[in-house]
Amino acid sequence: MGVTYDLIDAPYPYLCAVYRCRCGAAVTRHGDEAGVQPPGWHVHAAEPGESDEAVCPECVARSEAGERGQTPPRPA
Ligand SMILES: [Zn+2]
Repeated sequence: MGVTYDLIDAPYPYLCAVYRCRCGAAVTRHGDEAGVQPPGWHVHAAEPGESDEAVCPECVARSEAGERGQTPPRPA
């Protein structure tokens, strides 16, 4: 998943960014905050031409735990 930018038209136009993780978590940022990733989220550009990749704090923690050599719980 990734980041979706939208222009909200009421009561006045402002930019809105929705950060979506592949696990389904989503955070909405408005106005000046739209271009800044939410606290704890990791956002990095994917391949050129594709949308950015957004990862929520929970998935960040899970992947970091995995990188430390711990075995994450396997989905059934
Ligand atoms: Zn997630």
